[in-house]
Amino acid sequence: MSTRTAFTVTVNPKIPSRLSRMEELANNLWYSWDRETRALFSRIDPRLWEATGHNPKAFLKRVDESLLYKAAADQTFLSSYNSVLLAYDSYHSESLQYNHIEGFNPGDRVAYFCFEFGFHESLPVYSGGLGILAGDHCKAASDLCLPFVAVGLLYRQGYFFQTIDSQGNQQAVYTDSDFEDLPVKPALHDDGSEVRVQVALPGRKVMAKVWQVIIGHVSLYLLDTDLPENPQNDRLITHQLYGGDKTLRIEQEIILGIGGVSALQEMGIKPTVWHSNEGHAAFMMLERARNLVRQGLDFASAVEAVAVNTVFTTHTAVPAGHDHFSKAMMHDYFSGFCHDLKISWEEFMALGHMPGCDDFNMTALAIHMSRTHNGVSKIHGDVSARICHDLWPQIEPEENPIAYITNGVHVPTFLAQEWSDLFDRYLGYEWRSKMCDTEFWSLVDAIPDHLFWSVRQTLKSQMFYGIRARLTEQNRRNSGSEAHLDRLLKLVDPINPNVLVLGFARRFATYKRATLLFENLDWLRRILLDPEHPVLFIFSGKAHPADIPGQDLIRRISQVSRMPEFEGRILLVENYDMRLARRLVAGVDVWLNSPIYPLEASGTSGMKAGINGTLNVSVLDGWWEEGYDGKNGWAVKPASDDTEAVLRDKDESQSFYEILQDQVIPMYYRRGKFGYSSEWVKMAKYSMTSLLPRYNATRMVNEYVNKFYVAANEQGAQYARDDFANAKSIAAWKAKVRAAWGDVSLRRLDTPCKQIDFGTTLNFKVAAKLNGLQPDDVAVELLLCRQYKKMRLNSFQRFRFEFAEVDATGEHLFELHHMPELCGKQEYYLRMYPCHPLLTHPLEMGRMVWL
Ligand SMILES: *Cc1c(COP(=O)(O)O)cnc(C)c1O
Repeated sequence: MSTRTAFTVTVNPKIPSRLSRMEELANNLWYSWDRETRALFSRIDPRLWEATGHNPKAFLKRVDESLLYKAAADQTFLSSYNSVLLAYDSYHSESLQYNHIEGFNPGDRVAYFCFEFGFHESLPVYSGGLGILAGDHCKAASDLCLPFVAVGLLYRQGYFFQTIDSQGNQQAVYTDSDFEDLPVKPALHDDGSEVRVQVALPGRKVMAKVWQVIIGHVSLYLLDTDLPENPQNDRLITHQLYGGDKTLRIEQEIILGIGGVSALQEMGIKPTVWHSNEGHAAFMMLERARNLVRQGLDFASAVEAVAVNTVFTTHTAVPAGHDHFSKAMMHDYFSGFCHDLKISWEEFMALGHMPGCDDFNMTALAIHMSRTHNGVSKIHGDVSARICHDLWPQIEPEENPIAYITNGVHVPTFLAQEWSDLFDRYLGYEWRSKMCDTEFWSLVDAIPDHLFWSVRQTLKSQMFYGIRARLTEQNRRNSGSEAHLDRLLKLVDPINPNVLVLGFARRFATYKRATLLFENLDWLRRILLDPEHPVLFIFSGKAHPADIPGQDLIRRISQVSRMPEFEGRILLVENYDMRLARRLVAGVDVWLNSPIYPLEASGTSGMKAGINGTLNVSVLDGWWEEGYDGKNGWAVKPASDDTEAVLRDKDESQSFYEILQDQVIPMYYRRGKFGYSSEWVKMAKYSMTSLLPRYNATRMVNEYVNKFYVAANEQGAQYARDDFANAKSIAAWKAKVRAAWGDVSLRRLDTPCKQIDFGTTLNFKVAAKLNGLQPDDVAVELLLCRQYKKMRLNSFQRFRFEFAEVDATGEHLFELHHMPELCGKQEYYLRMYPCHPLLTHPLEMGRMVWL
């Protein structure tokens, strides 16, 4: 047979001049939260819109010229187009907010690094919660006009496309993105040339191209090594998200961290605050330190200068979840780097030392090289403080510098269009700028119940259409019969969406216990098979291809869903992505979450559900422990920590069954004469009112600004001033304290009183051996608390001693006169720790002596 060559030619449609700005709309991820913009594209050719996976840019390259001209001549289309542009222009005409953020000056800017970003299904460089959170952070930063830039990697293959066969086996299908079709463009220098950076890897230099993504006011720069000038192996570095082995992972993290810093530099962007979202990007801190050492700073001062304006957010709740690399591997990649830092190999490795972990630990590196660290919910803040407690060995975890900021979700992205229309009508357009105003959101109550309910029903019916399409496709591919499909879809009736629907969708990681509800199948049967009160479960989610137990969960769900009595009552829908997520969180009645406490760092899908009036039934873990107030959903109390896993699962699943059977189902089906349950509507409204103003990304980013960014920005400037004078002096001071602290001690001189009358002053006196330190290098403190239950140290009242004199032996004497304000038995402690006005956190040195 003769061979033949497939020649290709791409014909680009010419955009009619009246629609000339469609391209601009397609190149700005503003469309990822502006549904009117997406609707414009879809209206031109709905089938192509589906076929291109809701990707405006890919759409514009393929749409029929004639359809474009038809749209350009259609008055109603033009008026929608114009109104979209009006909104787009007014959004973009707001200028960056330096002036409104006290402590920010023109030119100041936050750089946000993350391994994955999830904005919209048309830019598949995310896998799940972490990426979507990062996307939401950027979107809210844009909404707030925050001077902000983000850095990540552009993966040729993002996360996989999932199919599930008839036996419940997950197949991971990877597809290559054509970058021409993605909403990205090469970042350019002023002279029009493409921005590229070189990153050193062992024995070679790798070139990375920089792409730019526009998200409203914010730019995201993505690095890509898939360039002809790189050898094949290096081209593959940015090929796949969370693929490959440790070698690939370290190379990706080097490209992100080190290449990311070079890229910003190359473009003349000079961030004044640096945020590493998760430890993957922590090499960024090393690269910045290297730059300072090259400028002549010593390493210790460089660390102080870098750390002081660096924020690190951890998202993991188990030590094993932290990234780490072996010593040998670190040696391969960083021995030269260590030389550039002018420190010994031991000093270098100490930066990544986490007690209990032999490897170089990225969380340890991130904490050593940042001064602001946080978890993503209250519980997770505590968990992280405990996991990382050894990094401040003499400080109790409850007092160490790990803080928390609870996650939030970007409301315009995840709120269904029907809700925003209803809000426009009943709350006024200003709801968009009142995102965090709790009082304002009580206006939701003014929405008539029947309208509220009808939106819920509409959203459920839309979700049903989507699910029918997916299951039909799934069934056809798995060679299922028509009869089988009918059985599957018998409750999925978009015309009559009256069945109670419970949704569970997220990554199938084992700690999320997707199959908890299958603990007692008899009980589940009784709940699901009540002929009066039908219930439908929808499951969806991907398991990482290397996560075998995670894939077993999928098989188990599939197996149960195929049991004759559950067929059509438990559905497993494949390929969970942002699009399906938006549908499900808004369309189901109840959102389930059953993590093992305290492993759900935050969880965000329940927030997406809550803002759409979907009720949460969830274990009190992550955000729900804060969000749940007794009236806005249902809570499963976790079994106590020491309960054996089997018993714990039994106990908690029982709580789920009881809540469903005794509360959720009866309430849902107590329908009044208009066909819905007014109790349900009341609870859903209240849930929306209580959750939306709190668990949105605007509140989250505002917290980052007010608690972290402003202070880091100011302190960064303070440390850098006069050729890093303060960075040098704090580094020298810390070295002095470290050397002296081993022989520092404290003893009490006054005789403790056991009983006093109210109004009596206590006179405390201690003598400190300072081993060469000065009295103002330390703080001596009284911690006092009324003793009625075990209190956390950070809730004790604190009183500072005054330095009095040096005694004959050279000990420093400190005194405190204190009159207790409260009666009753009080507990108190005396302690001393190093202190310096330039520290970010008073206990950041991790040194403490107690009496
Ligand atoms: C929100 C979201 C997640 C995160 O869900 P969790 O509740 O945090 O597990 C994962 N995947 C997609 C597609 C999402 O939209």
